[in-house]
Amino acid sequence: MKYLSTRGHADRKRFCEILLEGLAPDGGLYLPESYPQVDDATLNKWRQLSYADLAFEILSLYIDDIPADDLRALCRKTYTEAVFGTKEIVPLKTLENGIHLEALSNGPTLAFKDMAMQLLGNLFEYELARRGEQLNILGATSGDTGSAAEYAMRGKQGVRVFMTSPHGRMSPFQQAQMFGLQDANIHNLAVKGVFDDCQDIVKAVSNDLDFKRQYKIGTVNSINWARLVAQVVYYFAGYFQATKSNTERVSFAVPSGNFGNVCAGHVARMMGLPIERLVVATNENDVLDEFFRTGVYRVRGSADTHETSSPSMDISKASNFERFVFDLLGRDGAKVKALFGEQLGKTGRFDLSADPAFAQARSRYGFVSGKSTHANRLATIRDTWERFGVMIDTHTADGVKVAREYLQPGVPMIVLETALPIKFAATIVEALGREPERPARFEGIEQLPKRVAVIAADVQVVKDYIVKVCG
Ligand SMILES: *Cc1c(COP(=O)(O)O)cnc(C)c1O
Repeated sequence: MKYLSTRGHADRKRFCEILLEGLAPDGGLYLPESYPQVDDATLNKWRQLSYADLAFEILSLYIDDIPADDLRALCRKTYTEAVFGTKEIVPLKTLENGIHLEALSNGPTLAFKDMAMQLLGNLFEYELARRGEQLNILGATSGDTGSAAEYAMRGKQGVRVFMTSPHGRMSPFQQAQMFGLQDANIHNLAVKGVFDDCQDIVKAVSNDLDFKRQYKIGTVNSINWARLVAQVVYYFAGYFQATKSNTERVSFAVPSGNFGNVCAGHVARMMGLPIERLVVATNENDVLDEFFRTGVYRVRGSADTHETSSPSMDISKASNFERFVFDLLGRDGAKVKALFGEQLGKTGRFDLSADPAFAQARSRYGFVSGKSTHANRLATIRDTWERFGVMIDTHTADGVKVAREYLQPGVPMIVLETALPIKFAATIVEALGREPERPARFEGIEQLPKRVAVIAADVQVVKDYIVKVCG
């Protein structure tokens, strides 16, 4: 399997070459040259497998430069009941007739990003040991990504994490999760500023190519193909739990921000998994809903990016969206380059409404969309609690709200549960007048000693910090 760039660069790369890389050299995103197809017999065989072995089967279609035994061992080490809480790893829970929740948030940090990040941690450790290299991961987080990365990389050989976050802006639970880690290879940098300041610092450091090379700076953001392909697995696992035979079709509703999660659903569908619809659910930051309704993709300025009660979906642009547009436009790299590499930079928008391909987003690729507001979230959390005794978090509530707009008789709708309510307790209290349940292992984490350096929003300060740690 070879990988190409969405912007048409001539290079073809193998999995382990792109594992530790971010963007392709031309600024595009990596995608496989083609999507492996799974037939009926394969689906029948996969139905019987444990999650870890299913992960191995799917990943081995995309990874041919790690020996099979090693890859299987990495999957089995990653997807365990001890780490993800249940034997099924991603169990389904039925709400009303025809609507299921797929639990993706029982991993170490209680959000779906663990599903991919835990595997990434093990892949990084494996590949770095094989190369005899070190990697210093520099990231910016407003919450879920940073904690998922730190819990995945803690104690790993060859990896250090430097995670910037806006000082005092994460929820108390999120701060306790990250800053409470005592591992020597994890470094929390609380920046006196907002999330954009953190992102700007990371970009500036990464753009200093000499520094980047000398200090082996890498990232783990959601455009990483390894994260995306790891997410493909739970679409298959959800499908197998909701159906008895491969003649049945299901739909998925996905709380979306950067389009990473639902893009994995698109890949699963392209492989032949019988998915009817992919329902993209956004919050008030409705960049994606606007596109799927109108054909116009319009990046928001910071004044237009709202702070909402489903904060992990508060995006101004959807960084994985380019992957889908590449497929939608018949894999025309020159066209994608003109849109994302040129037009978007100049005008902040592009319009595909007059392109015949746009109608295919729905008719051929199954995409539909909707949006949800703070009032919708509160009502959905309340309704789900009162009718089913199930407490859902704010992001999952966005998914449930939009899912209900697209129910079809005879087609199960699987809503991806992307976080547990305890991470966003204030909104749960607002909706239900009670505190969310807290898994026993998180009792009292706010009282743990905190390892965090509070620093100025200054690129040089971050560089100096890295230099000091690396010696
Ligand atoms: C990251 C995140 C999302 C959005 O996922 P994308 O892949 O960016 O679309 C939704 N919900 C939660 C809880 C998240 O952490």
